[in-house]
Amino acid sequence: MRSGDQVFFTGFIIDLTEQQRTQARLQELQSDLAHVSRLSAMGEMASTLAHELNQPLGAIANYTKGCRRLLANPDAEAIAKTIEVLDKTAEQALRAGHIIRRLREFVTRGETERRPEPVSRLIEEASALALVGAREQGITARVRVAPGLKLVLADRVQVQQVLINLMRNAREAMQQGERREMAVDAHTLSSEFVEITVSDTGPGIADEVVDRLFQPFVTTKASGMGVGLSICRTIIEAHGGRLTVERNAAGGATFRLTLATAPEGYTTHAP
Ligand code: ADP
Repeated sequence: MRSGDQVFFTGFIIDLTEQQRTQARLQELQSDLAHVSRLSAMGEMASTLAHELNQPLGAIANYTKGCRRLLANPDAEAIAKTIEVLDKTAEQALRAGHIIRRLREFVTRGETERRPEPVSRLIEEASALALVGAREQGITARVRVAPGLKLVLADRVQVQQVLINLMRNAREAMQQGERREMAVDAHTLSSEFVEITVSDTGPGIADEVVDRLFQPFVTTKASGMGVGLSICRTIIEAHGGRLTVERNAAGGATFRLTLATAPEGYTTHAP
């Protein structure tokens, strides 16, 4: 302001240190919570995963015994056959390694960093863990990723955690039913968002929990903790997206989540 022949300036300085510290702490706590929840999910899935690992290990044991027998009379035919069987052995070992790697990546704490990720990768890797043993339960799963989707900005492990949670809930919901079909779809919602849906043919969301579904400790399961969906929503909202649920035409539940697309320039890497 001008006062007489003098000019005065006024400045306001607000110290944001505390606010930013609280924000950082909150983020840290959310990431810890997500991590604990991943560990607990893996604990629940341990026996199914152990079974899944047993298959390649059993195959490897059989193949090596077979090789030993073949090499008892090592004629040209036996050697050719041995080579073939050894290739299969290696394939099985890689399969077991693949499962373990996925598992390890999933349970690591990981830095919470968002990077441009192809949606197909997020879904494929998540379903590799979430669908273990699903076929034996009579569940058919269909995954459809629309071609040409933009990359999304995502903390890979956390978003996969959400997808795994939704797929496991869908599996559990269909355990009693006649129809057991799960569908995962990904498509473009707008230039800024991609939508992923996870649908099942279960009984749909129970009336008594529908209004509080995303609150912690809301569960209809005898051994459920009811924290899964609240963590899922926290993760998706921290990504700037939304997580909602509705009843689908089959009477089951359809969960929808949106993820922000990565800025232009990254799209060339999309599948
Ligand atoms: P929890 O699985 O431990 O119960 P969640 O937060 O993942 O915890 O789920 C809360 C509740 O939401 C479940 O107990 C169940 O009643 C309901 N729910 C979640 N997913 C589905 C689904 N696909 N179909 C029907 N009900 C569901």
